[in-house]
Amino acid sequence: MTKPHIAVVGAGIVGICSAYFLNKSGFQVTLIDKNDPGSMTSYGHACTFADYACIPVNSPDLFKDIPSMLLRSDGPLAIDIFYLLKNLNWGVKFLQNCTKNRVNHITNSLGGLLNSASISYDEIFSEVNVSKFIKKEEALYLYQNEKEFLKAKITNKMREKNGVKIKILSKNEIRDLEPNLNQDFYNGQLFLGSRHTTNPLAISKEIFQAFINSGGQFIKSSVENISPKDTSITLTYNQNNYNYDKVVICAGSWSNNLTKKFGDNFPLDTERGYHVLFNNADLINRPVGWSQSGFYLVQLEEGLRAAGTVEIAGLSKPENKKRTNMIENQARKLLPQLKEVKSTWLGFRPTLPDSLPIIGKSEKNKNIIYGFGHQHIGWTLGAVTGKIINTLCNDIEPNLNIEAFKPSRFN
Ligand SMILES: Cc1cc2nc3c(=O)[nH]c(=O)nc-3n(C[C@H](O)[C@H](O)[C@H](O)COP(=O)(O)OP(=O)(O)OC[C@H]3O[C@@H](n4cnc5c(N)ncnc54)[C@H](O)[C@@H]3O)c2cc1C
Repeated sequence: MTKPHIAVVGAGIVGICSAYFLNKSGFQVTLIDKNDPGSMTSYGHACTFADYACIPVNSPDLFKDIPSMLLRSDGPLAIDIFYLLKNLNWGVKFLQNCTKNRVNHITNSLGGLLNSASISYDEIFSEVNVSKFIKKEEALYLYQNEKEFLKAKITNKMREKNGVKIKILSKNEIRDLEPNLNQDFYNGQLFLGSRHTTNPLAISKEIFQAFINSGGQFIKSSVENISPKDTSITLTYNQNNYNYDKVVICAGSWSNNLTKKFGDNFPLDTERGYHVLFNNADLINRPVGWSQSGFYLVQLEEGLRAAGTVEIAGLSKPENKKRTNMIENQARKLLPQLKEVKSTWLGFRPTLPDSLPIIGKSEKNKNIIYGFGHQHIGWTLGAVTGKIINTLCNDIEPNLNIEAFKPSRFN
């Protein structure tokens, strides 16, 4: 009997991990991407395996915080008002998800998924040796003043309910851990047991290579159309049609361009984020999150990266230099020893208005399976999503409750 043939569209970390697990469980798998594997959003992020990051951007305080955030040129958020007005549906739905009840629901749902994130990666890492790209120095958050810290205390309670272990640190304790940091902050906290990577692209490439070595196929092409048939799904790329038994869509922020071709339209938008790469080595030992400006500093093999912030401005606008200048200036305040900037980068977090990913079978056709919309934590959730997608393709119920991620929730 021939094995069912599955196409995975999108070779970001979610698509690569999905292809890896599907191939392992015996499917014939073709991974398709118009770019090199792992080279888009999954390349330029802040590199944390952020199992602790169950708190969404949605917040009951957002209504009162947004005006001051927007007024501050060094704040974590920027909004292109004209873009937002054209895409009001996403903005309204996002605010509807800022009630206390909704935020609790989102936190607990993400918490459930995040609790299986590390163990799912470890399944891959037991076969694909990437240990030289992973560091166990735990992530540190810094708080600017007492007010910021008191806010964090509320979200810490929600994290702790979801199994996250936190250690509050005094200024002196932080100085002992990170002596090069400028001391202009109030206090901070460590996320116990967290880890990070020093080379995300290398990890993606290694998992991708393991997939290829065990019989997986990669096609570098842009998928232009998807059309479901009774017994197969047709993909159009390279100006031809190709039939597959099942298709998995992991195309990150671009997923809706494909799903809407067959009438599955999602309120998917992007939270743009940036990084600035400095020509430095060994100033910090761990990811350092600077809450007031919304970015992390992290030491990578290629330099010291300052990555984060949110900009609502869609997929087509070029890099906004004001944002990278802001990140550079704020990073230099925390680490005055930073040398020159090597490069800057713009990436596209795929975000649904409830900050929950879509993981599940399409309502339009059960042979189309989705894994996209992982917003700020897609790097962390790559492996667990791949595992769930594999169970769904095998028509098995996943052992995690994925009700909150079902595609039909926006109908
Ligand atoms: C500044 C910043 C910091 C971040 N920090 C962290 C962090 O520390 N920890 C964390 O867990 N997450 C972090 N994230 C989030 C994380 O990077 C993303 O959630 C994750 O990379 C999304 O992965 P993905 O595979 O869904 O998408 P992507 O990596 O974007 O991959 C999607 C792929 O689909 C392909 N594609 C799209 N359309 C088509 C088509 N029609 N045909 C063929 N191919 C197609 C694209 O070429 C792309 O390669 C951060 C993000 C940003 C921007």
